[in-house]
Amino acid sequence: SSSESRFKRALLKISGEALMGPAQYGIDHATVRRIAEEVKEARLRLGVELCLVIGGGNIFRGVSQAASGMERASADYMGMLATVMNALAVQNALEAIGLYTRVLSAIEMTAICEPYIRRRAIRHMEKGRIVIFAAGTGNPFFTTDTAAALRAAEMGCDALLKGTQVDGVYSADPKKNPDAERFDRLSYHEVMVRDLKVMDQTAVTLTRENRIPIVVFPIGERGGIVGALTGEGPHTIICD
Ligand code: UDP
Repeated sequence: SSSESRFKRALLKISGEALMGPAQYGIDHATVRRIAEEVKEARLRLGVELCLVIGGGNIFRGVSQAASGMERASADYMGMLATVMNALAVQNALEAIGLYTRVLSAIEMTAICEPYIRRRAIRHMEKGRIVIFAAGTGNPFFTTDTAAALRAAEMGCDALLKGTQVDGVYSADPKKNPDAERFDRLSYHEVMVRDLKVMDQTAVTLTRENRIPIVVFPIGERGGIVGALTGEGPHTIICD
């Protein structure tokens, strides 16, 4: 497709699960490579300034057994560390295909990556680098979805792309309920009052207050990211 992107600067939220591919846990390199190729196409062919927030569910699930007897805050720090591992894997895949990247962590880890400094992050994006935000918000009791909404607002992004396992937002889980209704477009209000499982409510509230549309699209499908940017691929858009 030769279409243009609807957005100039976008934040892409990738859950840890999306990096597992067909596996049950961990990182599937073929999947990470495919996502990296799409990020490259979005950056170089569509010219979109891109930043990424990566989740940690694929790694953290493995230690959640250990975390079940732990204090919530400590377990959450383990989850944030998992996102750093995923960020490094994605950085590696992006650099292997010639993109310039920076990992910025909300928790300082200066031997591994840069600390998150808002102005520096914006500068990296203006220079065409793919910025990968690691360690979520840096605070326990939050999620990487909320980190995605927060960073999208801080970076002045004009869209938050949320990759999921299905092709958009449904009224119920389409894998369990064949009668689930699929939406092309939703308001933030509808998402909140119907308690639709898109992103957590904190994340939805933040995007709503900052008027950042959420584009929910299938991350497991080739072309999903580019299709979400051009609007030609399957997606649900959430805006006012
Ligand atoms: N987390 C946190 N604060 C944040 C972001 C993440 O405490 O700002 C922790 C939390 O325990 C969460 C885990 O890190 O469960 C992994 O993030 P998340 O579950 O959002 O990852 P995903 O489901 O997208 O893979």
